[in-house]
Amino acid sequence: MNSSIYDIIIVGGGPAGLTAGLYASRARLKTLLIEKIALGGQVTKSEQIENYPGFEEGISGFQLIQNLEKQAKGFGLTVETGDVQAIVSLHKNKKTLKVQDREFHCKALIIATGSESNALGVEGEDTLLGRGVSYCATCDGAFFRDREVAVVGGGDAAVEEALFLTRLVKKVHIIHRRDELRAIKILQERALAHEKIAFIWNTVVEKIEGENSVEALKLKNIKEDRAFSLSVEGVFIYVGLRPNTTWLKNRLPLTEQGFIETDHGMETSLPGVFAAGDVRHKLLRQIATAVGDGSTAAFAAEKYLDSL
Ligand code: NAP
Repeated sequence: MNSSIYDIIIVGGGPAGLTAGLYASRARLKTLLIEKIALGGQVTKSEQIENYPGFEEGISGFQLIQNLEKQAKGFGLTVETGDVQAIVSLHKNKKTLKVQDREFHCKALIIATGSESNALGVEGEDTLLGRGVSYCATCDGAFFRDREVAVVGGGDAAVEEALFLTRLVKKVHIIHRRDELRAIKILQERALAHEKIAFIWNTVVEKIEGENSVEALKLKNIKEDRAFSLSVEGVFIYVGLRPNTTWLKNRLPLTEQGFIETDHGMETSLPGVFAAGDVRHKLLRQIATAVGDGSTAAFAAEKYLDSL
């Protein structure tokens, strides 16, 4: 049992949470950030970020998070590792969180738990995970040097990671369920022009096959209703993200997809409870918008504390 009360507790240590931590600590508020595994979230899966303002040569996700962590801790942010399982109570002056067998208390709460990769939900995906199936090209790409791999999806993540993989592998097949990419134009142009990238359009993965590791994908062209097979040794799945909000069910109103609604000050429908970053229902999910959310949430939380 941890009986001291923090001014602000932030749940989640990606760019939104760390920025909220930086702003709150710099405002001299007693602030704790609780992160489940390692700081960074989805960002650490990015080998090179080239659209975060101020870094003209780009910056790796890992480096950006290291810088942010150092900066926030420099202003006094406390970071704890722990899996926040539930909100126990939500009083105006005291909100209680259950973190494994401990309880933490705060006056204002900022939820920045981000999102995680969607699974395809096909046979072989679970059993061959780590043996050819991956959700992170930056982490696992090097295992497939000079091999042939597939990337599933047509969004920014799929195309960006396919481009990253071309530096390592022999060939990348991008398998997309439509005949048009969702990714932004600059990524589309690069991928469409890349000699190591081949596109398989209007196609879905039905099964991932292999004895001990991935050997082939069973595919289906949904326009022509035609099944076929593709020999690859790796498959990287980038079919969107889902918010990490299951622990908030029945506590906080969520959208149909599980995102948190907030007002312009990042406050949820519960007074003193704020949300920031990818976990929030919003138009654009980027590091630039996450840090904006984080700073706004910390500022609004400070105003909430003033009002108590
Ligand atoms: P996303 O934008 O939601 O794209 C998901 C892709 O997967 C779409 O092409 C979608 O097809 C496809 N898909 C979804 N479910 C599928 C299924 N069951 N089977 C086959 N394909 C399926 O997700 P994301 O690429 O992970 O990006 C998430 C967010 O992060 C976005 O807001 C994105 O802009 C942002 N992001 C930004 C950057 C960057 O700025 N550098 C990098 C990575 C991510 P349809 O197109 O047919 O729907």
